[in-house]
Amino acid sequence: MNAIQKAPRTDRLFDGPYYLSIDGQLASADEHFDVFNPATGQVLTQAPSGSPQQLEAAIAGAKRAFKSWSALSYDQRQAYLEAYADALQEHRDELARLLTLEQGKPLKTMAEPEIDQSISWIRQIAARRIPVEIVEDTASHTVELHHTPLGVVGAITPWNFPVLLALWKVAPALITGNTMVIKPSPFTPLTTLRFGQIAQSVLPAGVLSVVSGGNELGPQMTAHPDIAKISFTGSTETGKHVIRSAASTVKRLTMEMGGNDAAIVLPDADWQSIIPQLYWGAIGNSGQWCVGIKRLYVHSSYRAEFVAAFVDYARQQVMGDGLDPAVTVGPVQNKMQFDKVRTFLDDIKARGYNVVLGGEVDESRPGYFIPVTVVDNPPEDAMIVQEEQFGPIVPIIAYDDVEDAIARANDSPFGLGGSVWGSDTRAAVDVANRLETGMVWVNEIHTQGVDIPFGGHKQSGLGTEHGHEGRLLFTNPKTVLIKK
Ligand code: NAD
Repeated sequence: MNAIQKAPRTDRLFDGPYYLSIDGQLASADEHFDVFNPATGQVLTQAPSGSPQQLEAAIAGAKRAFKSWSALSYDQRQAYLEAYADALQEHRDELARLLTLEQGKPLKTMAEPEIDQSISWIRQIAARRIPVEIVEDTASHTVELHHTPLGVVGAITPWNFPVLLALWKVAPALITGNTMVIKPSPFTPLTTLRFGQIAQSVLPAGVLSVVSGGNELGPQMTAHPDIAKISFTGSTETGKHVIRSAASTVKRLTMEMGGNDAAIVLPDADWQSIIPQLYWGAIGNSGQWCVGIKRLYVHSSYRAEFVAAFVDYARQQVMGDGLDPAVTVGPVQNKMQFDKVRTFLDDIKARGYNVVLGGEVDESRPGYFIPVTVVDNPPEDAMIVQEEQFGPIVPIIAYDDVEDAIARANDSPFGLGGSVWGSDTRAAVDVANRLETGMVWVNEIHTQGVDIPFGGHKQSGLGTEHGHEGRLLFTNPKTVLIKK
C-alpha cells in the first residue's frame, strides 16, 4: 500500500485537461466528448471518453487492489478516507465552481453546500463500524455474524447531484473494504473526474477509479463478472435495464430511482409559514431532485390564498447563471431534460390548465432555462400530476378529504419520498405512516444524515443507502459457527 500523502494543491480555478483515473494512474482517451454549460448552452470543455478496454483496466485494477484494501483494518481505511476528505477540502472552492459550471446549480446556495456535505459525509462514514455480532453463544458453540466486503463495486451516477450522490456511494463502499469504479453521467463528468484525480494522490492504486464516457459503459459494468455489486442512482427506466443485466452474474444491487413525491398540506396546517420550505422542496435544484415535491396537495379551504402566496414567493426568486450571486434558481441541466420538461409545458398548454406563473420558455434566451411554472389545480390524471417532471414545474392540487389525498398520493408506481404538513403533529404522523414510500418527512423536508436510511418503495428503489442498513448492503453476511 502507498503511504498516505496529501494531494498536491492545484490551481483553484482548474480548467482541465480532465483525465480518467484508472488503477492509480491518470489516463487520457482516444476520444473526447463535449460537456456543456447549461447556463449558456455553450461547450464548456471536453471530457475523455473511456474505451471498453480502459473500463476493463479499471475493473482489473480494482480487483487487484481489493486484496490489500480489504485486508486493512477499519482504522487504517478511516485514515485514508480522512486524508481524502482533507484533499477534497483543499479543492473545495474549485470543485464547487466546476459543479456550477457543468451542472448549473447556484454556487452559494447549492454547489458549495453539496461539496461541503460530501466532504463531511466521508468523514462521518469513515468513523462508522460494522462489528462482528455474536448471534448465539451456548455451552456447545458460538455463532458469529461477520460482514465481509463484497469486492469491486460499480457506481453509476446521475447528473442532478453528481458529487454528493457519488460520494454517498464511495464512502460506505470503501470503509467496509470494497474498491470502486465510478461511471459518472455523461452530462456531468467533470467534478467526478476531478475528485477521482484527487483520490489518486491519496488512496492506494485501484481503490477508486473513475471512467467517464457514453452510456454504453453502463451495460459493460452491469454485466461484468468481476463487479460484485452495482450501486445505481438514476431513472427507473434505466434501472430496469441495470437489474436485468445484473441478473446474469447475480450482482448485489442498490437502486435509487425515480419518484413522484407528494406533499400533503393538512387542513390545520399553518400554511403561510411553510411556503418557503414547500417552494424550495419543489423548485430547489430547479426541480431536479429525486425527492423533490412533484405534487403539492393543499386543502381546498385555503387553496386560492395558498396559490397566491406561493406565486408571490416564487416571484421574489432570480433565475439565471448559477455563478451570479443574485441567482437562486439555475437552468435545467441538459438539452435532453430541457426538451423533456417542455413536453410537460406543451401538455399543460394543450389541455388548457390554469397556469398562474411561468409556462412559456423565452426562446431568445441562451441556455436551458425553463421558467418556474405553477399550475393551479390540474386534474388528477394530468401528465404533470402522474409523471415525474424533474424540472421547475409544480402542480398545486386541491383536495377536500384527507382520505382522498392519501389515496391519490399512493396511487403511483413510484414510492420514493413524501411529506406531510400539519399543526397537530400526531395527526400528521398518522397520515405519514399511511404513505407508501421509502421516506416521509413530517413538518420538514429533505433532512438527511449518515445514520438516516434513504431509499425507495415500489418502483423507486431496491435496498437503501445510509444508515446501518445501507452500509450493510456493501457487505456479505457471513455466518461463522464454532464448536466449543
Ligand atoms: P439516467 O437513468 O438517464 O442515467 C443514470 C446513469 O445511468 C447515467 O450515468 C447513465 O449514463 C447510466 N446509464 C444509462 N444507460 C445505462 C444502461 N443501459 N446501463 C447502465 N447504466 C446506464 O438518469 P438521469 O437522467 O441521469 O437522472 C435523473 C433520474 O434519476 C430521475 O428519474 C431521478 O428521479 C433519478 N434520481 C434518483 C435518485 C434517488 O436517490 N432515488 C437520486 C437522483 C436522481
